[in-house]
Amino acid sequence: MHYDIVIVGGGPAGSLTALNLEGERVALLEEHQSAGFPAQCAGLISQDCLKLLKKYVDAEKFTLNRIDGAYFFSPSGEFAKLRGRSRGVVVERKLMDCEFIKTCPADVFVKAKVTGVKKDEEEFLVRSVRGDFRASYVVGADGPSSIVARELGFDRPKVLSAAQVECKMSMDESFVEIYFGYSDFMFGYAVPTGDGFARVGVVSKSNAIRWLQKLLKEHPSVSKRVDSMKVDEINCGAIPFGLVEFVRGYAVLIGDSAGMVKPYTGGGLYYLAIAAELLGKHFPNLEKFREEYMRKLGKEYAIGMRIAKLYKELSDSDYDYLVRLGKENEELAESLHMDKPSTLIRVLPLMLKVVKNPRLAVKIARCLL
Ligand SMILES: Cc1cc2nc3c(=O)[nH]c(=O)nc-3n(C[C@H](O)[C@H](O)[C@H](O)COP(=O)(O)OP(=O)(O)OC[C@H]3O[C@@H](n4cnc5c(N)ncnc54)[C@H](O)[C@@H]3O)c2cc1C
Repeated sequence: MHYDIVIVGGGPAGSLTALNLEGERVALLEEHQSAGFPAQCAGLISQDCLKLLKKYVDAEKFTLNRIDGAYFFSPSGEFAKLRGRSRGVVVERKLMDCEFIKTCPADVFVKAKVTGVKKDEEEFLVRSVRGDFRASYVVGADGPSSIVARELGFDRPKVLSAAQVECKMSMDESFVEIYFGYSDFMFGYAVPTGDGFARVGVVSKSNAIRWLQKLLKEHPSVSKRVDSMKVDEINCGAIPFGLVEFVRGYAVLIGDSAGMVKPYTGGGLYYLAIAAELLGKHFPNLEKFREEYMRKLGKEYAIGMRIAKLYKELSDSDYDYLVRLGKENEELAESLHMDKPSTLIRVLPLMLKVVKNPRLAVKIARCLL
């Protein structure tokens, strides 16, 4: 079968790309019977991201909860309740992913695991368990272990692990919670889905399940508020870390396959939705697409990487200090946007003024500036 474009992967990166390539002859190949399974997402996105997604489907339909801000917990259990500039929503990914794929203006092939991708003089040959496909362009939207990336020799992002449970938890349902000191790389989180339930998880470098167990059993605040009798099965997934080269000749990577994920939270939907939109706008000029994406988000990725570096540098007592400081200076958070780490750099001079611990101030400045 011959197409203009073959997209490998029917997650949000694949289906949003197809939605933006309307008018081209597109085949979308998805390994599973349906998109969105198994669900590996807390479903937290910003209002800005929701607005982007509403261009394609009635995304409000998949909204479970609205979020006004976050409680940041230090390892000792102290917390600061902060509201930033951005508001968030919690969505049901399983259902939303299915709706995206249903709306795709492409020939969608499910149960079509791709087993090989080759490029000859003229075009790509994409081999799948549902037969061979030929195309002038190929898009790898096939997640962190992308076969498209591997077969075509793209660099691979590093991969973190995430573990998450859905459970009954008593919490302020219009705020997410972030737990520092309960991961060897990033943090733990609880995202309230409404009706007394939350998605509680950890992003880690090595053993997310062990960190999650520690969070649920030992955290001075979480352990008292989670109903351990009402913990659903553990959901594990990979989170790529670090954007890699994503355009090569007539091949493109989009989404997790390219590391299009906020390096300081692991959230991927906003950055991939922007990529899909820009690819549609500039196709078939892939170089222009790459340039525009980097113009829009290159700085955010770079600052995001520096924030991730800071997580590693901070000790438990540093987090205790910063949380106390956050409590006393709530107004500093008011201009922060969850998808735009550059907003943190803008308030950094003010932040550094209130940090009275010189050793910590140097650490923060060295990582972020
Ligand atoms: C625990 C966890 C929590 C998260 N929470 C959030 C959050 O709150 N907010 C947020 O924005 N992001 C979150 N993320 C990240 C977000 O889920 C990802 O960034 C997003 O799913 C990436 O979409 P994608 O389409 O690139 O990849 P995927 O969603 O992984 O989709 C890839 C698709 O490709 C298919 N595929 C793979 N290989 C093949 C093959 N060989 N042939 C055919 N098909 C193939 C797969 O079946 C899959 O359907 C979270 C991730 C994890 C693991």
